[in-house]
Amino acid sequence: MESLENKYQPLDFNQMIGHEKHKHTLTKMNSEGYFPQSILFVGPPGVGKTSAATIMARSANCQNIVDGAPCLACKNCTEKNFAYIENFIPSDLKTLSISQLEDLCSAPVYYKYRVVIFNNIELLAPTHISGMQKLLENNFRHTRFILLSNHLNKIDPSIISRSHVFEFNPINPHKISKWLLTIAKKEGIKLTESEAFRIADISDGSPRNAIKKLEVHAFSSRNGC
Ligand SMILES: [Zn+2]
Repeated sequence: MESLENKYQPLDFNQMIGHEKHKHTLTKMNSEGYFPQSILFVGPPGVGKTSAATIMARSANCQNIVDGAPCLACKNCTEKNFAYIENFIPSDLKTLSISQLEDLCSAPVYYKYRVVIFNNIELLAPTHISGMQKLLENNFRHTRFILLSNHLNKIDPSIISRSHVFEFNPINPHKISKWLLTIAKKEGIKLTESEAFRIADISDGSPRNAIKKLEVHAFSSRNGC
């Protein structure tokens, strides 16, 4: 059984909850074929940074962008890994060598862009800051970087200044509540407006937290609690 979180993972910006201004800007960039060398998405956990990064990566290699959104039907959109993405997690960031960082500059074989996502960029080892600066300031034709972080104030300023920065804020609980009600209706989950708002209100502005709580609610209400 697929989790609700996976099932309702946004595949384009229209499906993403909140962040209207960022979605407009990023969609506009996609529709004009502009992908900045380095984008930094920063904000609290679970508010949509990884979803936005995935949508941008998918859009970068989509063969048929429609109104700034990936078509979700072309070869690159439907492939398992849908785009050439390298996704680095914090433990990688601590052990990456400078030469590994430099290897990221080579052009992808099959795709237009090599999209490199660095999670928790604030954990980049101090010895790697200058290597990363060089990567970000080189104007690579086929490589793009998406940096993710929960803590703007912990990122080296030289990394911030070389990136297009998008700050993600917690989502309004009324918006989350409305979204939960829509999902509950589709899934046949019993959920009143006040229950939806209560879940949204204790989810710290995070749709990811909220949908997990909705799943728990669905199971408990099914058992007649
Ligand atoms: Zn496509």
